[in-house]
Amino acid sequence: MIKEFKDISKNIVEEADVCVIGTGAGGAVVAKELAEKGLSIVALEEGSYFTYKNFNQDPGDMMAMMYRDSGTTVALGLPPASITMGKCIGGTTTINSATCFRTPQKVIEQWKKEYDCSGLEYDELIPWFEKVEKEINVVELTEDVLGGVYQIVKRGAKELGIEAKPLKHNVKGCEGAGVCQWGCIKGAKQSTEISYIPKADKLGARIYANCLVRRLDVESGKVRAVHGVFIDSKTGKRRHSITVKARVVCLAMSSMITPAFLLKQRLANTSGWVGKGLTIHPCGRVVAEMEEEVNGHYGVSQGGQIDAFKDEDIMLEGIFIPPGIMTMALPGVGEEHKYLAKHYKNLAAFGVMICDTTRGRIFPGLLGYPYIAWYSMNQADTDKLQKGISIVADIFFAAGAKRVFTGCYAMPILKSKEDLNTFKTMKTKPWHYEVTAFHPLGTCRMGNDPRRSVINLNLESHDIKGLFIPDGSPFPTSLGVNPQITIMAFATRAADYIAENITRY
Ligand SMILES: Cc1cc2nc3c(=O)[nH]c(=O)nc-3n(C[C@H](O)[C@H](O)[C@H](O)COP(=O)(O)OP(=O)(O)OC[C@H]3O[C@@H](n4cnc5c(N)ncnc54)[C@H](O)[C@@H]3O)c2cc1C
Ligand code: SF4
Repeated sequence: MIKEFKDISKNIVEEADVCVIGTGAGGAVVAKELAEKGLSIVALEEGSYFTYKNFNQDPGDMMAMMYRDSGTTVALGLPPASITMGKCIGGTTTINSATCFRTPQKVIEQWKKEYDCSGLEYDELIPWFEKVEKEINVVELTEDVLGGVYQIVKRGAKELGIEAKPLKHNVKGCEGAGVCQWGCIKGAKQSTEISYIPKADKLGARIYANCLVRRLDVESGKVRAVHGVFIDSKTGKRRHSITVKARVVCLAMSSMITPAFLLKQRLANTSGWVGKGLTIHPCGRVVAEMEEEVNGHYGVSQGGQIDAFKDEDIMLEGIFIPPGIMTMALPGVGEEHKYLAKHYKNLAAFGVMICDTTRGRIFPGLLGYPYIAWYSMNQADTDKLQKGISIVADIFFAAGAKRVFTGCYAMPILKSKEDLNTFKTMKTKPWHYEVTAFHPLGTCRMGNDPRRSVINLNLESHDIKGLFIPDGSPFPTSLGVNPQITIMAFATRAADYIAENITRY
């Protein structure tokens, strides 16, 4: 049984082989894998516990319930980047779009060559990918749930000789309700609160929600105990504490929070790399006004992809959002705004994601806030974003768009192909864009050399015995694709290593 704030009536002391902090893509996986191997597990999660029966499709309600700071989290910089994260059992997987990609082989090769990761072999990772994909039921989406936007993008892309195809998602019985990012109302998305966590629970893992971890005890270079406090999610009141004495601790609080937690306590940072190297996989959203009704709200919101430009570090993936958020993000006020809201059914939208070369940084938080993030997109990434937006605009015009909204303040509206040609050739700057990002990574990077990395290739700290970081933090570059399968596969691999070596701790 998952214990929540309301179930806690006294201070708690637990003992376990492994204490896992965070229940998202990384934490839930290590908790279940290790419980299955017979280890005793305590998992602590700051957010609350919800099932699909609690979801109501209303983005405002759901963001307040399951997003960190109701979805207002940003990295400071020019331009500031919105980087949203989940805060609930299941972490960001509960509110993600369910898209699944393995780590591209060329990325692993780059890590080996340029980032001191020799010893990682793509072929040896395949069994871990397969294990995760089976656990969360990764399947290619079928045309019947892909919706109207996908048909428009496919049509426009075909005109230009580009292939659009369905994405793979971790779903069972997806009905294309299109609200994955606000919690799947059908219970179809196999996020970790529905896949790994119930299994870990059945296998005897002791799981605590509403539990904020504040401190890690380290003695003689080894982890000893974790300290947390229970928080009432409604009032913010803190009552009762928990101490978990453990031989191994897995920090899986996300690539934004794990490094800040370590920096604050001055732990595991003899390399000086904790918090550095943040990549975010910046996104742009291109919206088209079509003559025909698109009804983009029917169907999976991120169902289709175009990977023809991946060698130029540009991935195009679907993204459709509810009316309130969509119209707020479009240019125009007054009558123009009213017009767009009225014509929501005629809007189509598609996303652009850039495999970024920019590096940001995480600093310890202030005044009780868990972290501060800095990320200022460089010109090379800006040029890629501009190119990606131009490609999507081309596709929409080829499909018959009346107007295209670029998300670039230098030229927000394109009314014709001539406008598009102007947009393509103009020099845009980073601050011309509204940047959002969903895939922050890389802030406690892995590597063989303790002078240049925070953790080794098994995700264990070079400095502290028994401290592992199986979340989005280890990966030294942007992946160019959505990261949940990479995080889960490396977490599974780390869990196997921990289980084989538990007697050493
Ligand atoms: C809107 C959105 C859509 C996305 N879509 C996709 C997609 O389609 N495909 C894909 O591959 N990826 C997607 N992602 C990204 C993906 O979900 C994340 O990369 C992944 O979940 C990160 O895993 P993690 O383990 O690092 O952290 P998280 O999954 O974020 O889990 C971290 C957990 O740790 C908890 N925590 C933090 N601090 C503490 C503390 N002090 N004490 C206790 N608990 C704590 C948090 O509350 C959280 O639950 C999306 C992200 C977003 C925001
Ligand atoms: S599209 Fe709907 S049914 Fe399918 S996974 Fe997303 S929210 Fe669930």
